[in-house]
Amino acid sequence: MGTLAAPLRSRRLTTAAAEALYTRPLFELAGAAHEAREALTDAAVVTYLIDRNINYSNVCNVGCAFCGFYRTRRQDDAYTLSFEAISAKVRELEAVGGTRILMQGGVNPYLPFDWYLALLRHLREHHRAIRIEAFSPEEIKGMAKLTGMTTSEVLTELRAAGLDGLPGGGGEMLVDEVRHARHVSPARIGSDDWIRIMGEAQALGLYTTATMVIGFGESPAQRVQSLLRLRDAQDRALAGHGNGFSAFISWTLQTRGVRIEGRAPGAGAFEYLQNVAAARLILDNIVNHQASWPTMGYKVAQTALFAGCNDFGSTMLEENVVSQAGAGQQATPERELVRQIADAGFAPRQRDSLYRVVRIPDVEALLAPEGAAGPVPGQGAAPAGRSPAAGTVRS
Ligand code: SF4
Repeated sequence: MGTLAAPLRSRRLTTAAAEALYTRPLFELAGAAHEAREALTDAAVVTYLIDRNINYSNVCNVGCAFCGFYRTRRQDDAYTLSFEAISAKVRELEAVGGTRILMQGGVNPYLPFDWYLALLRHLREHHRAIRIEAFSPEEIKGMAKLTGMTTSEVLTELRAAGLDGLPGGGGEMLVDEVRHARHVSPARIGSDDWIRIMGEAQALGLYTTATMVIGFGESPAQRVQSLLRLRDAQDRALAGHGNGFSAFISWTLQTRGVRIEGRAPGAGAFEYLQNVAAARLILDNIVNHQASWPTMGYKVAQTALFAGCNDFGSTMLEENVVSQAGAGQQATPERELVRQIADAGFAPRQRDSLYRVVRIPDVEALLAPEGAAGPVPGQGAAPAGRSPAAGTVRS
């Protein structure tokens, strides 16, 4: 890709070089990122996951200004799901060939630690084949505070009870000046703690992802600072035990109807694609980069497949948090993900959360007009609709 790609492929970017990416023409930057992606992953393939988000409780005491999901315990629509209600959601996922649940809630100080352990054991017993990725660093920190244990001890007990990994929630900007700004979330977990807890989880063999949200009003230099903190953390994990972040996922701040509305600029398609491409080039040690269709829509997400992304995310059956803050898209059927990937010229592959291909979908059958084809494996009926009280959180 001309002048930019060759030097970028050949050496690790310095801070200055990383910051300079944000001044380059978008398509030049995207082209370089696409080449970097092709060098690391199968150039012909774009993967996706069939999964489900489950939000066990919306009670939270952190109060992030960008969150439309959380409630105080006394609000009428505060809830905590029963184990059976959670199991019913997992059964719906199993019925459509899903392989993972992403389970997050608020930081609920009224739930004892034993509740989480019992929930994991219940899920392990009744849904042996489903991977359980649950409890972001913010929730882990909350459990440590509740029990007096260290976060590492909390993670060890959760793992023994059946936890497979942590969601990447709460990464946002790993720059405290941004994340703790008055208009964002002064009480939010600090970036040092987020990185430390992810590192502890990785040392225990748990699966993790790295996330980033742009649009709080941060500068390009602060975006770079956040990405370099991830790159350093990944270096340490890979050198220490080999289990680092499995993927990087970024999206733009969703502000509609939440307290931060009007107090943060957000970010549009240009900045999203710029950041996606820069992240691919800066994070040279994270192989998988995911496009975000729920926040950016299919068209921009498709474009991200030419700016460094090799994965189209997941079906996200039951998504509520970013949707409650204005994201345009919610859950989508597998058929739609396959259509978007194929239309962009890539071969769709269903993966598991470890990015292993588990199925090659029959694209022709999936995309056939309704009634023209019989049932397709893994394409069952969509699960029952979202409960207005249930949602996905990014604690
Ligand atoms: S984003 Fe998470 S931690 Fe913040 S208020 Fe919402 S539920 Fe609580």
